[in-house]
Amino acid sequence: MPSPISMGHLSSAVSGRVIAPDDHEYEEARRIWNGMIDRRPAVIVRAAGPGDVAPVIGHARATGLPLAIRGAGHNVAGTGTVDGGIVLDMGGLTSVSVDPRGRLVRVEAGATLGDIDRATEPHGMAVPVGVVSGTGIGGLALGGGVGWLVRAHGLTLDSLVAADVILADGTSVRASADEHPDLLWGLRGGGGNFGVVTAFTFRAATLNQAVFAGTLMYRRSRWSDALPAYVEWAAGLPDELSTMLTFLVPPPWWELGNEVVMFVGFAWAGADGRDGEAWLDRLQAACAPDVATVDPTTWVAYQSSMDAVFPTGSRAYWRNASFDRFDGPMIETVIEHCGAQTWVGTGADVHHMGGAFGRVPEDATAYPSRAGQFLLNVYGFWSDPADDPAGTRWVKEFSEAMRPHAIEGQYVNFLGHDEADAHRKALAAYGPAKLARLSEIKRRYDPENLFRINHNIPPAPA
Ligand SMILES: Cc1cc2nc3c(=O)[nH]c(=O)nc-3n(C[C@H](O)[C@H](O)[C@H](O)COP(=O)(O)OP(=O)(O)OC[C@H]3O[C@@H](n4cnc5c(N)ncnc54)[C@H](O)[C@@H]3O)c2cc1C
Repeated sequence: MPSPISMGHLSSAVSGRVIAPDDHEYEEARRIWNGMIDRRPAVIVRAAGPGDVAPVIGHARATGLPLAIRGAGHNVAGTGTVDGGIVLDMGGLTSVSVDPRGRLVRVEAGATLGDIDRATEPHGMAVPVGVVSGTGIGGLALGGGVGWLVRAHGLTLDSLVAADVILADGTSVRASADEHPDLLWGLRGGGGNFGVVTAFTFRAATLNQAVFAGTLMYRRSRWSDALPAYVEWAAGLPDELSTMLTFLVPPPWWELGNEVVMFVGFAWAGADGRDGEAWLDRLQAACAPDVATVDPTTWVAYQSSMDAVFPTGSRAYWRNASFDRFDGPMIETVIEHCGAQTWVGTGADVHHMGGAFGRVPEDATAYPSRAGQFLLNVYGFWSDPADDPAGTRWVKEFSEAMRPHAIEGQYVNFLGHDEADAHRKALAAYGPAKLARLSEIKRRYDPENLFRINHNIPPAPA
C-alpha cells in the first residue's frame, strides 16, 4: 500500500521546484507532448541538478508510489508522466559541453536535440540525433535515435560511449566500455529501465556547418512511378546520404495544396555537397519531382525545419515496423493507406536504414532489427479529440497491413500507448533473445522494478 507523500520532506531534500496539484504551475508542469495522455501526478519534481535525483528515488521507494522519469516529455506512449505518482522532470538540466580535440560531447540528460545541435555546429561536428529539435535526448538516446545521419553514423545510441546513472538504490555509477559494460549495453536500446541518467557522453561526427539537404515532392498521382524509382535508387546509395520518405497532407503554410503528398527528404553527410547533389540528380532523372526544395541550409536550420508540424499538445498514436526490403506488394499497401489520409498532420515516414546503422552487429546493443533496410513509422497525430477513434484506427489498420512483411523487433520510441501487457510488448519489441538478456540486466540493476513507467522490461527471476 503506497504511503502519502510528505511535501515538506521532499522539498527540503531537493533544490529543484516541487510542484503539487494545488500549485499554480501544476497544469503546465503536467503537460507532455501527446495531448491524448492526460495524467495527474501526485507531485512533479523539476530537478535542479544531478543531486536531486537520489532523494526523489528514495522518496519513491519510501512511499511506494510509481515514479516516472521525464526528459522533454515527447514520448508518444506518455511514459514521461504517471497518474497519482511522482514525476522526476530532468528537463532543466540542459548543458552541453563539446571537447573538440577528443571529439566527445557531454550532454546533460534534460537537453533537447536543438541544444546539442547548437553546441556542436560551430565546431563542424554533430551527434546523430532525431529530426525534430524539441525532442529530448533522454528518451531518444536510450531507445534509439533515428535521424538524418543514420546511414553515415548510425543511431544516437551507437555514438553513446558513456552514461552517468543513478540506480534504484540511489548509488551513482558510470556505464562505459570499462565500467558496467552490461549496463551500457542495456541503456543502448533498453530505455529508462535501469536507472536515471544524469549525463550522456557521445562521440561526435564531422559535419559541415552548411549541409546539402532538402526535399523532393511527388503528388499522389506520381507515387506508383516514384516509389519503385526511389527503391531502386536507394539500393545504390553511399552511406553519406540518408533519406526518408514522408507521406502527409502538408500544413497550409507550406502552400503545397491540401492533398496528401510524398516527400523524399535527404541530408548529405560527406565532405563535398556536390557529390550529394550528383546522387540526387540521379533520382530526379529517373523520376522528376513535382517540387524540389534544395536551398542552402545549416545543420541547425534543417534540424528544426519540421518543428512547427509537430506542436505540443497534438493527440497522437504511433506504430512502427522494420523491413528487409520494400517491394511491389508493400508499395501497393503504402499507396493505398497513405493515399487514404485526408487530414493535416498524421503521416508516415519510411526511413532508409542500412549503411553504418546496418554494420553494427545485432548483439552489440539492445536496439533490435539491424537487418532492417527500411523502418516504417506510422505517426498518427491530430488536434480534435473527436478524431481519436478515426486517427487511431488509420494507424492500426495501416500498420497491421504492413505487419506480414516485417522482420522481428519494433523501435520502442515509435510505439504508442497500448493495452498489451508489458511482457508481450517487450517481446514484440526486442525478440526473445534480447529480452532475456535485458531482463537479466534489469534483475541486476533494478530487481524490484522501481523504473517501470516505461516500455517495461520485467526483471528475470532471482
Ligand atoms: C514530434 C516528435 C518527433 C520525434 N522525432 C524522432 C526522430 O526523429 N527520431 C527518433 O528516433 N525518435 C523521434 N521521436 C521519438 C522520441 O525518440 C521518443 O518520443 C523519446 O522517448 C523522446 O524522448 P523525451 O526525453 O523527450 O521523452 P520523455 O517522454 O521525457 O521520456 C521518455 C522516456 O525515456 C526515459 N527517460 C527520459 N529521460 C531519462 C533519463 N534521464 N534517465 C532515464 N530514463 C529517461 C523514461 O523512461 C521516459 O519515460 C519523436 C517524437 C516526437 C513526439
